[in-house]
Amino acid sequence: MAVPRNRHSTARKNSKRSHHAKKPIQTTKCTNCGAPRKPHMVCPSCGMYRGRVIVKMAESSS
Ligand SMILES: [Zn+2]
Repeated sequence: MAVPRNRHSTARKNSKRSHHAKKPIQTTKCTNCGAPRKPHMVCPSCGMYRGRVIVKMAESSS
């Protein structure tokens, strides 16, 4: 592995890390139940994706 010749200053280190901040996760509303879900992912509350049931969720009320 390459070894750096010179030490970087704290300002240079911190300015390099200025792009490393985490962004909040993007969510969209489920068209079936309205719960927030990740885009291109099956809805975690109802198990639907693009109007079809992909994952059968366990019914807690029945
Ligand atoms: Zn849903």
